[in-house]
Amino acid sequence: MDRHPNRKLLSRFGFGRLHRRGNQEVVRHLLVGCEECQQVTSRYLPVLEYGAAFDRAQGEVERRQIELIAERAEAGELLGSCWHSRPSVGTSW
Ligand SMILES: [Zn+2]
Repeated sequence: MDRHPNRKLLSRFGFGRLHRRGNQEVVRHLLVGCEECQQVTSRYLPVLEYGAAFDRAQGEVERRQIELIAERAEAGELLGSCWHSRPSVGTSW
């Protein structure tokens, strides 16, 4: 395995402040599987919380389903009241 990039290089990589050649050097080193350097650079990566995002999306879907059911019920009631209040056949306006 290559020598480890120094900590300063790793932190500059993590903050996206490395020039292209430096980036390539660090990426090449990480790709060979150096766990020590992977741990160092992972500190700079944003924490991805997919679980929370999916939970929020699921909550939104459920909220909209409830609204849809309520709107359908209301539409049915309105249609029913319109049906019963229509003028009977033969009524002149
Ligand atoms: Zn390393």
